[in-house]
Formats: sequence, C-alpha cells, structure tokens
Amino acid sequence: MARLLEHINVPGIETFDVYRKHGGYKSVEKALKTMTPDEVTEEVKKSGLRGRGGAGFPAGMKWSFLDRKSDKPRYLVCNADESEPGTFKDRYLMEKIPHVLIEGMITSSYALGAKTSYIYVRGEYMYIIRILEKAIQEAHANGFLGKNILGTDYSLELYVQPGGGAYICGEETALLESLEGKRGNPRLKPPFPAVAGLYASPTVVNNVETISAVCSIVNESGDEYAKIGIGKSTGTKLISASGHINKPGVYEIDLGLPVEEFIYSDKYCGGIWKGRKLKAVVAGGSSVPILPADLILKTAKGEPRLMSYESLSDGGFATGTMLGSGGFIVMDETACIVRNLWTFTRFYHHESCGQCSPCREGTGWMEKVLHRIEHGHGHMEDIDLLVDVAKKIEGNTICPLGDAAAWPVASAIRHFREEFEYHVRYPEKVKNPKHFELEP
Ligand code: NAD
Ligand code: SF4
Repeated sequence: MARLLEHINVPGIETFDVYRKHGGYKSVEKALKTMTPDEVTEEVKKSGLRGRGGAGFPAGMKWSFLDRKSDKPRYLVCNADESEPGTFKDRYLMEKIPHVLIEGMITSSYALGAKTSYIYVRGEYMYIIRILEKAIQEAHANGFLGKNILGTDYSLELYVQPGGGAYICGEETALLESLEGKRGNPRLKPPFPAVAGLYASPTVVNNVETISAVCSIVNESGDEYAKIGIGKSTGTKLISASGHINKPGVYEIDLGLPVEEFIYSDKYCGGIWKGRKLKAVVAGGSSVPILPADLILKTAKGEPRLMSYESLSDGGFATGTMLGSGGFIVMDETACIVRNLWTFTRFYHHESCGQCSPCREGTGWMEKVLHRIEHGHGHMEDIDLLVDVAKKIEGNTICPLGDAAAWPVASAIRHFREEFEYHVRYPEKVKNPKHFELEP
C-alpha cells in the first residue's frame, strides 16, 4: 500500500492546509508531545528502513552512530541533490507533496537533537527550491518550525541550500564541503559524517525519500512498517521507471515485488513498447551493473528476481545493491549496449572531480576507447583493455564515483561481449547510427 504517494493526486496537497487535512504533521505532534528523541530513533531502527539514496545503509544504525556526546551542534542534512541518471523520484515527491519532506525533517531533526537542519537541493531543480521554501514558510506560520514548536521546548530552523551544479556534490562528503561554501570535493572516510560532518560536527546525511518515510514509521510504528516488504528490504520504495516501456513514471512499490510484474503489469511499466522484446535493464541508476533480460527476470539460481536489496545483489560486483537509487532504465532489443555504455562513461568522465588518478584518468581512457569502438575504429584487444582499466579503478578511489564508472563497463562486457566484438568486426555497419535498429 502506498505510503509516500497515498495522497499524491489530492488537489492542493502541496499546500499546508490540504496536507494537514489528510493527516499531515501527525508524526511531529506524536514525536514531540509523546516520545523522547531516543524512542523515535528506536522506531526507525525497528522499521528496518534502509537508505533510499542508493547505498541501502540501515537508517536507524546511521542515526545511532551520531556522536551524541560531542559538545558541538548536531545537524541533519537532507541530500536532495538527485543527479543519478534515470533517477527522478525525489524531484517528483518534492514537487507534488513537499510537506512530507518538511514533516520528516522536523521529526528526524528532533530524534537527532538537531537545532538547525538543511535541505541541499540539486541546483538545476530551481523550481523545487521555491516549492520547498514556500512549504517551510507555511510550516513556520503554523507553529511547526521556529522557536518552541507546538509549545514544546524543541526549536528548529530549516534552510534550503541550492546545490553546486555537479553530480559529485551528491556524494555526502562533497555535499558537506559544498554546503560549507567550498568546492564539492569528496572527503576521505573515515571519519564518517556521523562523527565529523558539517563544520566538523556530528551530522546525519539522509536522502529525501528516507527522511519522508520517517513520517509513516512514527505514525504507525517501526514494527508495522517492517511488516511491508521482504526480509531485510522493508517498506515501500519509489522507483523512477524510464526507457523503452509503455508507462514511464514514478511508482511506489512494496519491496519484494517480482521484477517481471513491475515491468509487464499494467499497474506499473505496462510492458515493453511497440511490442518489442526486453534486452537489458539497469535497475538502480547508471551506477550499477547492466543486466541482460534473462538475468533481470531470474537470479543466477533461477529464482524470480525481486525488487529488493538482497535479490538485486548478484550482478557480479562486490558491494552494494543493484536496487541503487531506484532508477529503473529499461532497454528493448534495438538498444545498442556499446552506445549506452559510451554515454554513461562520458557522463562519469565529465563528472569526475579529478582528485584521484584512477578515476580522473581511467574514466577518460574508458570513454576514449568506447568512443572508438562505437564509431567503428575499435580493435579486439580494446575490449579486454576496458575490463583492465575498470578493474584498476574499482576499489582504488576516494569516493564511489570511480566504482560507479567501472561496474557498468565490466558488467556490459561480461554479459554482451559479442556486441562489442560485432562493432570491431563490422566497422562499416556500426558507423550507421541506426545500426542496432531492427530490420523492417
Ligand atoms: P556508502 O555505502 O559509502 O555509505 C552509505 C552511508 O552509510 C553513508 O551515509 C555513510 O556515511 C554511512 N556509513 C557507512 N559506514 C559507516 C560507518 N562505519 N559509520 C558511520 N556511517 C557509516 O555509500 P554512499 O557513498 O553514501 O552512496 C553510494 C550510492 O549512492 C551508490 O550506490 C549509488 O547508487 C548512489 N547514488 C545515488 C545518487 C542519486 O541521485 N540518488 C547519485 C549518485 C549515487
Ligand atoms: Fe573525485 Fe573520482 Fe576520486 Fe570521487 S573517485 S574523489 S569523483 S576523482
């Protein structure tokens, strides 16, 4: 059952009054008037909620890492720098129902003991920034922000900060650097932000969807929330579905839904467009492996693949999960994997901050080699060269951008090697930009 998008189609739901009439801000009242901050954190732990930005790290555990003994101020920072290719679910949520994020920010800030909190929004989402600022003003005017919220002794100020305009500013430590007014370069971890984050103070950085989910968890209890989903993938998840499907859009699913149902059911993607066949899927934004049709529908063990952190985790890469940011990109049989990979790699090369050599140089090399293969100038040995460069990047960089650039390359060659070889063997054919269109 929808939690975040339950009232998305109610006219005027973006305003405080309508949102409030539909049960909005109840979690703030419940938390501030009847629960201690530790009790709220306990509910989030019990819910099993995992980070919805991409890494899937347990939110309650992250909250409990916050250094509460420090005499420095504590901060909650919302990562709304949504920039992962194929990912647009946070934008949808903030645009349509901004108060769910403001409510989640207040309840979560209370749990963490933060008196000042920030929402760092992707710079290109300028209109969203205005929507959020209006929502914050309304919350202030109704006593949900500012001094002595709802007559309690808890006070909070909430600010919206426009992002620096680079993909890397979404990496949590780069985001904190940018929020401090510096160039958004990732920091070495540890220390993690929970110990030394914004202005070297204890900080929790959570994604928009993660913070918004806290409202339902506090309202209905962590145990109730944990009943939705499967195994350690609890709750609902927003999925941004795009590519060659009949019904692209943002869907809220219960975790554990079979991937096949998500792609083919009319309730969600509605099947592959133009009656074509499914070729490949990138399930969690461009930073995860590309899987061929047979492997996205069934696991290597032949079990139905589920939309869950665990089921989407055997793509042949060491860490993380292919559920990622929930950017579900579907490719039909006419898609050219080499061109797709070249596009992804060009993006990572452009967005590399340049601090570490394997990422700065490696993404550039991969882009050049992919460009020549795609444009009919490749050599057979280029294919293994790509795998070699990807291996040298993986695990050898400061932040996950290096890994994110390497995984799609390694997985595409593992699963679609013959397509790379075809490009090398038949350069004249691939020089035609429509070389992978179906014959009429
Ligand atoms: P990560 O696994 O390094 O960290 C996850 C979170 O857990 C971080 O907040 C980190 O501080 C915290 N953490 C981990 N170990 C900890 C410890 N020992 N003590 C305290 N805190 C700890 O991953 P990440 O860099 O946060 O995220 C990478 C993911 O981001 C990728 O998998 C990708 O899918 C996703 N991503 C999303 C977008 C987007 O637009 N939504 C963009 C780029 C990447
Ligand atoms: Fe910068 Fe790339 Fe190193 Fe990340 S991996 S710090 S983006 S150079």
